[in-house]
Amino acid sequence: METVIETVSPEETFEVGRQLGLLAKPGDIYTLKGDLGVGKTVFTQGVAKGLDVREHVNSPTFTIIQVYDSGRFPFYHFDVYRISDIEEMDEIGYEDYFFGDGICMIEWAELISELIPQNAKAITIEKNLQKGFDYRKITIRS
Ligand code: ADP
Ligand code: MG
Repeated sequence: METVIETVSPEETFEVGRQLGLLAKPGDIYTLKGDLGVGKTVFTQGVAKGLDVREHVNSPTFTIIQVYDSGRFPFYHFDVYRISDIEEMDEIGYEDYFFGDGICMIEWAELISELIPQNAKAITIEKNLQKGFDYRKITIRS
């Protein structure tokens, strides 16, 4: 199934994320794809809000994974951009997160595609400058 949602402000993208967070269940895995500055962090902050996460959420720039424990379920935010060898995922014990009791959001999942479970839902955020500077198209495939 594919759902397409169009937004024209960061607040709207945050709200789409929040709605997803409200519906997310333990074991859910989402991949999140989109160019720099497209709104991945805004979206992820909305997901965290929907999960009642109280900590501030930002891009996990210097760590592969950021764990937020204050919400209804654990929220695992991955950015695997700096992974140079797939074994680094074993070293961080990724299976405990992927097959655990929380919700996973994975940026740059294409770099570890062989590890991504079949049931993962793929989220893509894209700009279209012909539709305006703040336009975003959010596609969710499940
Ligand atoms: P990323 O994490 O993908 O690099 P960020 O979420 O950090 O991107 O930044 C997105 C930027 O785009 C923010 O400055 C935000 O205010 C701006 N923006 C403008 N329109 C939108 C929109 N419709 N949805 C999300 N962000 C938007
Ligand atoms: Mg970001």
